[in-house]
Parts: sequence; structure tokens; C-alpha cells
Amino acid sequence: MNTIVSAADEKFNTQVPLLIIGAGAAGLCAALAAQESGLDALIVERNAMPSGSTALSAGLIPAAGTRFQRAKGIADSSDLFVADIHRKSKREADPAVVAAVVQSAAALVEWLTDRHGLPFEVVDNFNYPGHSALRMHGLPSRTGRELIDRLRQAAEAIGVIILTESAAETLFVDDGYIRGIEALRRNSVPERIGCDALILACNGFGGNPDLVRRFIPEMSDALYFGHPGNRGDAIQWGESLGAMVSNLSAYQGHGSVATPHNILISWAVIMEGGIQINGEGRRFCDETRGYSEQAAEVLRQPGRFVWNVFDERIAKVARQFEDFREAERAGAIRSAEGIADLATAMHIPTAVFAAEWNEVENLKSADAQDRFGRKFLTAQGCRPPYHAVKVTGALFHTQGGLAVDSSGRVKRRDGTRFPNLFAAGGAAVGVSGSTAGGYLSGNGLLTATTLGYLAGKAAAEQLLS
Ligand SMILES: Cc1cc2nc3c(=O)[nH]c(=O)nc-3n(C[C@H](O)[C@H](O)[C@H](O)COP(=O)(O)OP(=O)(O)OC[C@H]3O[C@@H](n4cnc5c(N)ncnc54)[C@H](O)[C@@H]3O)c2cc1C
Repeated sequence: MNTIVSAADEKFNTQVPLLIIGAGAAGLCAALAAQESGLDALIVERNAMPSGSTALSAGLIPAAGTRFQRAKGIADSSDLFVADIHRKSKREADPAVVAAVVQSAAALVEWLTDRHGLPFEVVDNFNYPGHSALRMHGLPSRTGRELIDRLRQAAEAIGVIILTESAAETLFVDDGYIRGIEALRRNSVPERIGCDALILACNGFGGNPDLVRRFIPEMSDALYFGHPGNRGDAIQWGESLGAMVSNLSAYQGHGSVATPHNILISWAVIMEGGIQINGEGRRFCDETRGYSEQAAEVLRQPGRFVWNVFDERIAKVARQFEDFREAERAGAIRSAEGIADLATAMHIPTAVFAAEWNEVENLKSADAQDRFGRKFLTAQGCRPPYHAVKVTGALFHTQGGLAVDSSGRVKRRDGTRFPNLFAAGGAAVGVSGSTAGGYLSGNGLLTATTLGYLAGKAAAEQLLS
């Protein structure tokens, strides 16, 4: 529906200070920050239980300069992190927003741990592409399910109300002020909720095939691996309101989703020394540039699939992720003692594959670079047993969205701010520039959690002052 209605004389069933649409990482962090600052927050959520794309993720939040890093002797800084984001996005991301989210990230991870009981730790046994320090922070299970469940429990514990099975459909607007919304409860009962400020935390448009076709044609036939309830409501309301939208062609893809099982295979299998081989037995690019741009690269290969090939040492690293263990249980991983037997199990030409494999192993022993520019290291040498998993490329979430300032305030097309409208997470433009290749690992939860937090705080400051 996504309609905008003039609010003159509108009657609301309820009135709340802060209304948030969407109970993912962004909405819940916004609610925690606002409620803690003394502003009551109510979230409307389409689903019966908060989950969103957050629950589908690995729940890893990048942050630089945390005490968790220091405890493990990891040297890092905001400056390094900012530089990594700008390098990956080719300086297309808004520098003010990049600075704000990076500067908030360390405090946010420690705040969630200390104040709200989320026991973060640094993932220290492999690094993600593009990060110049180990800075991914995860919960014990390394799942987004644990992240969303713990955020929800923390929010409920401090009095945030989450109205589930409530899909926001209409915004009521009066001279640029958002006065409230109409949500459809349990698909049938309309409820009008008035508010003093609104935060859009309903993610992007990955679950809306028409919008994907319009803005990201290269992924229009790809598997969408994110939350289906993210239908682009924020940008559609924004466009009708005269908001500035930005970088709608940007997205997080992933070039490693087990097919036909549809299970994410951690990119650790590549970063630790694994390679991707197409159905003809050949490598086709430097896999380590990033998993996001690899989605389209994989889809360009014959049959729109490739094989991740790695060894038992690498499998042990990947087994820390529940997804990988699930892929093993589902029989997605094929194994063999020799490369020829593995080629047979993969139904690819043995000689072509063996030549590729041997070339890579030789490069590893010489710490040398391949024809695509990928650098291999001696420590990445593979030994039997070998493993392979058939994967395809998928769209995880969109990175374009409403242009915001460093407090999450939504900008109008003329650059001025709406007086009481905020956006965070996938509803707001990310820090990845305009392409899939601009996505640095963790950009999704980085902006969801920190912009959510900053928007919640800013709304509280504005309404309580
Ligand atoms: C498989 C996968 C793995 C990922 N791994 C990582 C990772 O490890 N690290 C990382 O940084 N990022 C990762 N991401 C990206 C990350 O999950 C997202 O960037 C992040 O979760 C976005 O949070 P959000 O709160 O904006 O959206 P969501 O978590 O999707 O929450 C949005 C919520 O809004 C609700 N909603 C939508 N429209 C309405 C409406 N009209 N009314 C009411 N409710 C509505 C939805 O139901 C949903 O619950 C991954 C994504 C996927 C799909």
C-alpha cells in the first residue's frame, strides 16, 4: 500500500512519543537508545516474531577500538576502519555518515554487552575481505537469530512495546510533520497510531521483485536470501514525501550460497585459501575482492553456479558457523582424498580442474600472486581430505535508501531535514556507494545498529528538550 495521507483532523486510536516501523536490528537499537534516554518507544512489526534479515545474518558487527580487541592484542582504530570503508566504496559513501557510524560502533558493541547483556567477542580466527584488522564482533552462536532474540529481550526488559503482526501501510503527514501511521493488524484490523517522531527501520526493497528489477537489474533473477517482508516501504513513502533517495543500485550480494540447499557457506572457506571453480573446471576471478560482488560474478558462470573447493583445515574454521554445520548435515559438502575423485564427485573435467588446483597450490608455496591478482600464502596450503560445495550467487539486502544525516534524520530532495522523520538500517542509504562491490563485510549491521542507536538518541534529545 505505502500511501501518504494528509493528516488534517486525523483521529488516532493511540498516541505515542516515538514510533518505529520494523523490529530488526535497526528498530530495536533505536528503541533501546530512546527508551534508555527516557523517551517511550513503540515498534510496529509485520511479523508475529521479530526476525527480519537480522535473524538470517551471521550477526557480526564490525567495530574498531573495542576493549574486546584490546584484550586480544588487536591494534585497530576508527581512522583505519573509515579508510577501509572509503576504499571499498570508492569514496562514494557520505563521509559524515561513515564517520558517525564508525565512531559509534565500538561504544555500541560495549553498550550492548554491558547494559543489555549481549556477550560480544571478536572473531579472531580469520579476517573478512577488505578489513585491515580483526574487528567482527559476534555472539557465542555466531547467528543473527541470537542477535535479534537478545535485542528483543533487552528492549522488552526496559519497557519497549513491540506490536507484532502489524504492517504499517499509511503515513499521515501534516506540512512535513509525520503525525502518525495506519497499520493493518493481523491482515485485517486497521489501527491508527499517532506519534511525535517516526523512525523508519523497515529495511530495503530486496523482497519487492518489481523494485529489484527497476533498480538492480543484474540481480532480478537471483535468489533473494533476505527477509521477504522487506518490500521497500521506506523508499516508496520517501519518494512520495519528497525525500532524497540515494544509491538504489547498491546491494549486498553473496557468492556462496549452497545450492540447491539454500544455506550460506561462510566466506571463511575462501579467505582461508579455498577457491571457486566453475562447471568447466576453471577459476574465473580473484575471489577475495569481496563476497558481495562475487554474487553477480558467480551468476555469470555457465549454469549460474560454481564450486567452493577447500580442505579439512578450512572446514574446521567454517564449522564455527551453524550454517556450515547445517550444510554438512544436509549433505551439501562432497569430500574426497584426492583431487581426481573430488572432480568426479563434482562432475567437472578432471584434467582442467587438476591443472587449476596444482597451479594454486604451487602459488601458495611461493607466496605468489595468480593471473587475477589474488595473493596466496604458504600457510593456506591444502591437504587431503578435500571438500567441495556447489554454490550460487544471491541477493542478501539492498544498500540504497533514504538519504540521512549523521543522526539518521531523513533529508528532503533540497537537502533540508524533515522535522520528525528518521531512518536507519536498510531503510536508509548505506555506506557502500552505488555498487555491490562497494559493500565492505559488515556494512549491513554496522549501519543498522549504529544509525538505529543514533536515530533513537536524536529523537529522544529532540522530543525531551
Ligand atoms: C543471509 C544474510 C547474512 C547477512 N550477514 C550479515 C553479517 O554477518 N553482518 C552484517 O553486517 N550484515 C549481514 N547481513 C545484512 C544484515 O542482515 C542487514 O543489513 C540488517 O539485518 C538490516 O537490519 P534492519 O533492521 O535494517 O532490517 P531487518 O532486520 O530486515 O528488519 C526490518 C524489519 O522491518 C519489518 N517491516 C518491513 N516493512 C514493514 C512494515 N511496513 N510494517 C511493519 N514492519 C515492517 C520486517 O518484517 C523486519 O522485521 C546479512 C543479510 C543476510 C540476508
